[in-house]
Amino acid sequence: MRVLLLGSGGREHALALALAADPAVDQLIAAPGNPGIAAVAQLRPVAITDPAAVTALATELNVDLVVVGPEAPLVAGVADAVRAKGIVCFGPSADAARLEGSKAFAKEVMAAAGVPTARSRVCCDVTAAEAALTEFGPPYVVKADGLAAGKGVVVTEDRDAALAHAAACGDVVIEEYLAGPEASLFVICDGTTAVPLLPAQDFKRVGDGDTGPNTGGMGAYAPLPWAPPGLVDDVMARVVEPTLAEMRRRGTPYTGVLYVGLALTAAGPKVIEFNCRFGDPEAQVELALLETPLAQLLHAAATGHLATAPPLRWRPGAAVTVIVAAEGYPAAPRTGDVISGVDQPGVLQAGTARREDGALVSAGGRVLACTATGADLASARSAAYALVDGVSMAGAHYRSDIALAAVEGRISVPSS
Ligand code: AMP
Repeated sequence: MRVLLLGSGGREHALALALAADPAVDQLIAAPGNPGIAAVAQLRPVAITDPAAVTALATELNVDLVVVGPEAPLVAGVADAVRAKGIVCFGPSADAARLEGSKAFAKEVMAAAGVPTARSRVCCDVTAAEAALTEFGPPYVVKADGLAAGKGVVVTEDRDAALAHAAACGDVVIEEYLAGPEASLFVICDGTTAVPLLPAQDFKRVGDGDTGPNTGGMGAYAPLPWAPPGLVDDVMARVVEPTLAEMRRRGTPYTGVLYVGLALTAAGPKVIEFNCRFGDPEAQVELALLETPLAQLLHAAATGHLATAPPLRWRPGAAVTVIVAAEGYPAAPRTGDVISGVDQPGVLQAGTARREDGALVSAGGRVLACTATGADLASARSAAYALVDGVSMAGAHYRSDIALAAVEGRISVPSS
């Protein structure tokens, strides 16, 4: 199989390693990729959000499968354009990707499908925003309606800050605060059949103890030792199946990976958000544990054959990833810092580039994802931090508490 992978982050490095390890893959091309991905794939430049450019590249390369990493190309209709040329593509149509592209649309689908989620109001002006903040009370949750790379959400006790975010964003969704630990579930979908991966947890805030601003994600681990028994079956039955049925009913069946972000509340799991692609950095831990050949799995999903695909196989144990971020991330990441220590297996590259003299330098906010597995969560965590200790970059910062509360048994789901 010849596979074209779109994207250039740590998620795509993890995808590239898993795709390249599939014995059915004889050629992997990544566009645009990054210096880490270059070790396992041929790199080609492309504007990934330009459907015509991606389609031209996929046609020229005569690929058997296109795998779309990030959300922006999906929302821009890249998967539709590729499929229109008769090329198999893993990723939802633009219509289906609106589950991530518009928070208001996601809420509408959830309401129609009876999916448990936070009560919410779509607000188009400050008066409506003020009324919604009063209705739901603190902590206030204000979400920009469009794509914002994980940074469009403000959760605050400060009403003025909530109102300022609403005023700055234009159309916003204001919703009830959901109390309870968060979990992410990824589900591979072919429109009809859905196959869950392992529940994972990510860390959105920049600082230890969940302090500071939201980021794209500072670390993750899987599976969740504290998850209630039956969590996956429950979410499949109450969230995923009804959502997929509603999308089929609307004539926009969902194929690709559906990312379900959940709060495990006293009243059961409730959806915080849907995303239309693998999470970054959760993909890094999922793919470190997945034994099933990835290209064959994604090809089966993209061609409607998941029902006859073999059950997923997982390595035993756990995986942890710790993001090493650039100085100034998330507000104003500095680029161009020289990076060393990336040759350790498990150091995935996210925001990196080659300088003219060949040095590897930072080129984005999240620079590396140090990813390790272990027999249990504690050993996976130690191994991931050993990788962090082995890398160096001026101004680097990372969270020191990824997976710590889970290892120490400090996470529990509130009871009703
Ligand atoms: P989102 O982009 O919707 O995932 O939101 C980013 C982060 O904001 C989530 O991972 C949660 O930590 C937090 N968040 C979003 N919505 C809520 C909510 N209704 N209640 C509590 N926390 C929330």
